[in-house]
Amino acid sequence: MIKWLLTIAIVVIALMLWFGKGRGGGAASQRRRTPGPEAMVSCAHCGLHLPRPDALEGEGGRHYCSVEHRRLGPGASG
Ligand SMILES: [Zn+2]
Repeated sequence: MIKWLLTIAIVVIALMLWFGKGRGGGAASQRRRTPGPEAMVSCAHCGLHLPRPDALEGEGGRHYCSVEHRRLGPGASG
């Protein structure tokens, strides 16, 4: 009797492992990192909004959209 029980147990475990492997837990769901609103900055010269990684940092912690605008500095209106 023990032999039968062992055989059945092994078969059941094998089937569980097999189906568990095939189905997949679904825990491997990766999300793409999207920049939030706080990642946007505006050019101190022309006011253009652009992602912070793309912006150039100037004096006084200001951000600029291009090298030329950084050279020109903040806009006349402030
Ligand atoms: Zn600009």
